[in-house]
Amino acid sequence: MAKYTAADCRLCRREKQKLFLKGDRCYSQKCAITRRAKIPGVQWAGRKKVTEYGLQLREKQKAKRIYGLMEKQFHRYYKEAERIKGVTGTNMLIMLEERLDNVVYRMGIGSSRSQSRQLVNHGHIAVNGKTVTIPSYSVKAGDVIAVKETKVDKAYFKELKTLKKPANLPKWLDFDSATLSGKILAKPQREDVDLTIAEHMIVELYSK
Ligand code: SF4
Repeated sequence: MAKYTAADCRLCRREKQKLFLKGDRCYSQKCAITRRAKIPGVQWAGRKKVTEYGLQLREKQKAKRIYGLMEKQFHRYYKEAERIKGVTGTNMLIMLEERLDNVVYRMGIGSSRSQSRQLVNHGHIAVNGKTVTIPSYSVKAGDVIAVKETKVDKAYFKELKTLKKPANLPKWLDFDSATLSGKILAKPQREDVDLTIAEHMIVELYSK
């Protein structure tokens, strides 16, 4: 699968905000945004006003980068969101939240979405007792997401067991560190997505 090769922190600096792509480092003083927020490789002084298109483009790039998707995959979410009933932008964000790699991250099993994707890819995660290795797998209410029983003895998971429930666990999810398993309590709503994304701008961009 194609993936970004640029340094993650560079992506945050380009969007002029933290995208939380590197786990614990993002909350530390080592965070590049905390240390130096300047946009990489661009001399902004004296530049023209950003156009509406430019703003829409940045919003789309930001969302893509947060969820770690390439253009083709991201656009597919838009097309599907447009097809189903409801507000396209909201549908799109909810579908992104329902990705298994995002849920593994939200539950605190992975410290970042990219690490969570790796955990899924490498067969560490089970959904309703069955191994799922597809990061884009869409979860639904009632699903039980857990670290596979055969993997819980790995040092990484042993340490995770000693931690408390993540403080920022969204209300549509539950997670028990002791058993390394959690449940999808409900379908996420827009207000559950704590990201500053203006999804209507992404819809405007794609619908041109
Ligand atoms: Fe972004 Fe995290 Fe790097 Fe900070 S440490 S710039 S939040 S990826």
